[in-house]
Amino acid sequence: MSWENILSHERAKKILQRAILEDKIASAYLLWGLEGIGKDSLALEFAKTVNCLNPIIRKDEIIACDNCRSCKQAKALTHPNIQLIYSLPSGKGSDTTSESPLAKLSDEQISEITEQLKLKSENVYHKISVPNATQIKIASIREVKKNLLLTSNTSGRRVVIVLNAEEMTTEAANAFLKTLEEPHENITIILTSSKKEMLMQTILSRCQQIHCEPVPELVVAQYLVDNYDKSPAEAKIIANFSQGSVVTAIEFLNENIQDMRTDIVETLRSALKKNYRIELSQQLEKLASSKDKNKIETSLKMLQIWMRDYLIFVKTGSIDAMINQDQKERIIKFSELFPEADIPSVLSEIEHSIYRLRRNANLQLLLMSLFLKIRKFLLKVDF
Ligand SMILES: [Zn+2]
Repeated sequence: MSWENILSHERAKKILQRAILEDKIASAYLLWGLEGIGKDSLALEFAKTVNCLNPIIRKDEIIACDNCRSCKQAKALTHPNIQLIYSLPSGKGSDTTSESPLAKLSDEQISEITEQLKLKSENVYHKISVPNATQIKIASIREVKKNLLLTSNTSGRRVVIVLNAEEMTTEAANAFLKTLEEPHENITIILTSSKKEMLMQTILSRCQQIHCEPVPELVVAQYLVDNYDKSPAEAKIIANFSQGSVVTAIEFLNENIQDMRTDIVETLRSALKKNYRIELSQQLEKLASSKDKNKIETSLKMLQIWMRDYLIFVKTGSIDAMINQDQKERIIKFSELFPEADIPSVLSEIEHSIYRLRRNANLQLLLMSLFLKIRKFLLKVDF
């Protein structure tokens, strides 16, 4: 891994490299932005670069050699100077002793964590995911504090990286704040977060904040072509649905997005029939049955993109600009069938439903209300 293996984020890379070169490294950073765009990787690359024994320096760049002992340890996530903190499952017993955060976990849980770290060390965009791990416990923070008090046997800079910092419990966050309040010479703390608003203001104010933008869709698409053997057309669709998150794009590789799209377009079709009630209810029941809000959101986004293609065609007559290239005949047919359709209103209704999806318990009712509105806007019927 090196800076260039992390897609995009030129601004963040510059800020971090310049800090190293000018010897103006902050005691704490917050890298924030959408989930799955490479924030962890930026933090890890920074940690590797500051510890590299033979860094390559040219103009305003500093690049880890990737060959020295330090770089190899950093890459394997076994560097004594680099500590990675992430959510762990609750172990047996209470969380009040000063034991290691791993002490209460089963052998199986420990081996799961080891496996996750191995995958992360092999793939920049692997998302560390340990079953039932939703919180960063105070025991992890206590361990950070304990380690920071020890004198390091290794030269270089110690870097503590807290992944998804918003997952810290209140207790952990309060304990962590004390560490932030006492900056240590030669120690840098990097928090990453996709939910910055959930972090305590007192923590935010101690960090130099670096916003990381979503990865441009074209860059994600090219990455899928180069690394996952996707055709440019498939990659373009997946990249569009991933909205700038490389990790989401990789997750979509396992979903059959063609089938998901077929289902949602079928649902649209059933909503437009003369006697639509029964068939539409069945389609919506199928859509809501997974109860997986992420998946339903993806389906609605697919419908949104499909309708956007429809709008582009109606407005410009252009087929080339469509994302759903394989659906162009169907989209053209729709435009002939519903010449009066109010597509901008359809798009804003879908947007509104996506917003409400996360806050709404009755999925089927939400979806029914959406499709009835779409019916109204496409058929121009009042009811
Ligand atoms: Zn090196």
